[in-house]
Order: sequence, then C-alpha cells, then structure tokens
Amino acid sequence: MVDVRGIHKSFGPLEVLRGVDLRVRAGEVVVILGPSGSGKSTLLRSINHLEKVNRGYVRIDGELIGYRRSGKRLRELKEREVLRQRTHIGFVFQSFNLFPHLTALENVVEAPIAAQGRPRREATERALRLLERVGLSDKAHAYPRRLSGGQQQRVAIARALALEPKVVLFDEPTSALDPELVGEVLDVMRDLALGGTTMIVVSHEIGFAREVADTVVFMDDGLIVEQGPSSQVLDNPRHERTRAFLAKVL
Ligand code: ADP
Ligand code: MG
Repeated sequence: MVDVRGIHKSFGPLEVLRGVDLRVRAGEVVVILGPSGSGKSTLLRSINHLEKVNRGYVRIDGELIGYRRSGKRLRELKEREVLRQRTHIGFVFQSFNLFPHLTALENVVEAPIAAQGRPRREATERALRLLERVGLSDKAHAYPRRLSGGQQQRVAIARALALEPKVVLFDEPTSALDPELVGEVLDVMRDLALGGTTMIVVSHEIGFAREVADTVVFMDDGLIVEQGPSSQVLDNPRHERTRAFLAKVL
C-alpha cells in the first residue's frame, strides 16, 4: 500500500533523511520509534508530500506521489493534483490542528464536502458514524475549546478517516496529552488497527507498539537502523542503538 524507496531529504546542509526504504502492506500497522531529531516527522511529511524529497520516491497503492512520469523523467504535479492525492492519506498531528471556529461535526465533514464534493447530507451521516466510532456522539456540536485534549484528538482521528484514506499517518498523536487522556486515544487507534486500517504511527508508546504493531521500525540519524516484527525489535533488538534507545523509553 505504501512504498517508500530510497528517499533523501536535506534542509540546507543538514541531511535529515539519508536513504529511507519502507514498505507497508494493506492493513499493516507500523510503529516508528527513534530519538528526537532522527527524521521521523520528516519521513511522514515526505510520504504525503508536505516535504519535497531530494531523491527517491513514494508510491501509495501504486500511485506516485507528487510526480508523474513523462518518458524517462519525473514531472512535478500541480498543487491541485497533489491535494487530490493527499485525500488518500490521513494525517493525525501531535497538536490536533482542529479548526477552532468549527464544531466537531463540522471539522469532520469539511474535507469530504470541500475536497471531494460529497453531498452535505451524505457527508454528515458518515461523519456522525465516525464520531460514534471514536466515542464522541454526544460532542458532535461542541467546539474544540470545549473538548479535552483526548477528545480533540479523537475528533482529529475521525476527521482523518472522513476521506476514506488508504493509509493513516500519526505523528506522536498522544505526546501532547495529559497522561490520563492517552489511553482513550490509544483505544481508538487500537480499534482502527483491528478493523484493518493501514497505519504508520510515530509513537513511543511501547505498550501500544507491542500489542498493536505488526512491524516496529527504529530510526536514528536519518536512517532506518532496524525493522522487524514488533516482538523481535522490542524484545530482542539486534542493534546497540536500538537497545540503548529502548532502555531509555521503557
Ligand atoms: P523527529 O520527528 O524524529 O524528531 P524531524 O523529522 O522533525 O525529527 O527533524 C529531523 C531534523 O530535521 C532535525 O534536526 C530538525 O531540526 C530538522 N528539520 C526539520 N524540519 C526542518 C525545516 N523545515 N527546516 C530546517 N530543518 C528542519
Ligand atoms: Mg517529530
């Protein structure tokens, strides 16, 4: 479903991704771990073309993201095309990023109506089902400022699902939350995973990774140092750097 090949990304002289390959099957849950600054967010942002990579490419369900092939060369797609491609990729941010002037329901229906031209009634029915799925039926008409951080993040997850994406990317979805609110968000994510959603999750919630991830990836310094089945990477890491990192977060 997701095919990341040989991507390199620099900011000025700083090489942040130094050749990253990652393949994610439909329905697979991948958890990415790694120290701050190792390039995890840049990798997620590169997957949905919020960052333009310097080398390599990303395909989602066979479709090249951000480019089209023209003979032997790649040509950049127009912004409108990139936006269309992005509707296939859900993104959940650390900081929720809900529209503050829209209710929970309006946050969830906005993209299907604006980006996909779905009829309002159909989009609303679907949004209400999604809010129910994340346990927020009773908050449909509440504004974000009236919601706890955990509730806001669950609305953000419902919003990410509204376009029926092929993959959902999560960038440290619980790290801005008070500890007592982390569980409700992880519960929703666990539910999605069990329902077969393809997910790439940057998170240091090792319990979640152990229970839910099919694959755990450890990144350091712009490279994937190690990846494998969650039990292998978490309980029996091959690399010293993975071991040292796990010793700190466990
Ligand atoms: P992580 O998510 O693993 O903490 P990031 O992908 O956010 O790491 O960042 C990797 C490195 O890239 C860091 O050194 C960060 O400062 C740098 N970086 C990220 N985004 C930018 C940017 N837009 N401009 C310059 N440097 C950036
Ligand atoms: Mg980050």
